[in-house]
Amino acid sequence: MTNKARRSLHEPAVISTAQLAQFFAGLSESGYRIIGPTVRDDVIILDEIAGPTDLPVGWTDRQDAAAYHLERMPNSALFGYVVGPQSWKKYLYPPRLELWQAARNKRAFELKQKQPEPPKLAFVGVRPCELAAIEILDRVLTGGEFSDEYYRRQRENTFIIAVNCTEPGGTCFCASMGTGPRARHGYDIVLTEVVDDSGHRLLVDTGSEAGLSAMSKLTAERASNEIQSRADELLSRAAGRMGRSLDTADLRELLYRNIENVYWDRVGKRCLTCANCTLVCPTCFCFATEDTTDLEAHRARRERRWDSCFTMDFSYIHGGSVRPSAKSRYRQWLTHKLAAWHDQFGSSGCVGCGRCITWCPVGIDITEEVCAIREHDPAQATVTEESNI
Ligand code: SF4
Ligand code: SF4
Repeated sequence: MTNKARRSLHEPAVISTAQLAQFFAGLSESGYRIIGPTVRDDVIILDEIAGPTDLPVGWTDRQDAAAYHLERMPNSALFGYVVGPQSWKKYLYPPRLELWQAARNKRAFELKQKQPEPPKLAFVGVRPCELAAIEILDRVLTGGEFSDEYYRRQRENTFIIAVNCTEPGGTCFCASMGTGPRARHGYDIVLTEVVDDSGHRLLVDTGSEAGLSAMSKLTAERASNEIQSRADELLSRAAGRMGRSLDTADLRELLYRNIENVYWDRVGKRCLTCANCTLVCPTCFCFATEDTTDLEAHRARRERRWDSCFTMDFSYIHGGSVRPSAKSRYRQWLTHKLAAWHDQFGSSGCVGCGRCITWCPVGIDITEEVCAIREHDPAQATVTEESNI
């Protein structure tokens, strides 16, 4: 990770938390709603915030398989935690979206409403793994022959303030997936928070013309070599302190050749098929559409809502579900994420955010499952046996 590899349209600058508040105020004046992390019901969620004081100031999160809690930090860091259960897809690709409404007009139906106009949103605190997830959603939802119009328009209306991760969480493995802990691109501005004996400072890099224009309204100090080195040091340390890791070597081939591995039975016995992992995942995008009418059949509406490959209905075709067991649904999800996604969309479908590990009620851990498949890989056993001859 060198300075040279970073994309910056201006010299890095340093701002204070007071200047960050000014920055937010400038975005609000330009018509943006500010969306950022905030504490609600003992969890860090994403919601509209008025300024930096609404951020989880002085809080950090402790995460492990099926475990999450907040703790007080010894300082007043604004970004001393990682990702919560919600991801930015909540705004870019809403859980429920009305596609249209229709009202009866004599013998025909008249289309009454089109999709809502996406609001101007400024996302605050987008982590590098989440930038990678947004990049994946861009490819999936707008990169092909057909484009998701609501998503495309919301992306155009979104300003992104990313934050580099200096405190990785217990279930994070972005370093293994090549998506963090430093943001490379996909942001308008990116902050690295440094809280030490020299004070509480935010190092700012700019990644777009919109970011440059927004930053030009602040009188920011040019970043010294000292703070840039300190930020580099914090990010290098973070890369070495990930709570989890995943060996991605040969992963696609490993999973394809192990479709019939007996190990899937073991995880299938633990999986509740609750779908939590897909709902928290920042790249899962499956949906269902539902049509409803009023009792008099005068009005009809169609709504799109998130769905999951863990539900029985999702794979229901004539005669029944093609994935009737928990084993078949877990195998489908993991193999799609880490193998078939490469064939479909040209990258892994996992960015290493760790949410599916933290929020799985029975603590199923994608990194452990891959390790187990590796250990039970008959091809690997053959290699080991041959090398022992
Ligand atoms: S599969 Fe799990 S770790 Fe990977 S991006 Fe989805 S939620 Fe995050
Ligand atoms: S792996 Fe965990 S979170 Fe996902 S469906 Fe199974 S029990 Fe639910």
